[in-house]
Amino acid sequence: MINGSCLCGKVKFQISGEPFSLSYCHCSRCRKAAGVFSAVLIGKAGDLLITDGQDEIAKFTSETGSKFERCFCKNCGTSLGDMASGDVYVIAASALDDDPKIRPTVHIHTASKPDWYEIVDDLKKFDGDYVAEK
Ligand SMILES: [Zn+2]
Ligand SMILES: [Zn+2]
Repeated sequence: MINGSCLCGKVKFQISGEPFSLSYCHCSRCRKAAGVFSAVLIGKAGDLLITDGQDEIAKFTSETGSKFERCFCKNCGTSLGDMASGDVYVIAASALDDDPKIRPTVHIHTASKPDWYEIVDDLKKFDGDYVAEK
């Protein structure tokens, strides 16, 4: 079980099962919400359980028709990721309290990365989405 929570502790969640991937996402949503980029943990939607504070989770949905919802704690603003994106969850790894045991393998949406941030590791880079083999 991988436990996660927001900064104030009102929102708590648990992930069972093996996540599919851990990636560094440079999309504009992650950049604006999380800082330069966000480490995102992706796995099977049914493996994510909100154990506390469901009512504390606010959702931002872009008007441009993006299928993603950006979830965050209403009380402390902690970025939680996209907790209900169809078949998968996309959780901000920064909200995890436990080690998910897998390590980042790729940078995604690097086309949206600001020029002032230079990626200096050797992980694979994708301009857009990358869907890990399941
Ligand atoms: Zn909170
Ligand atoms: Zn992103």
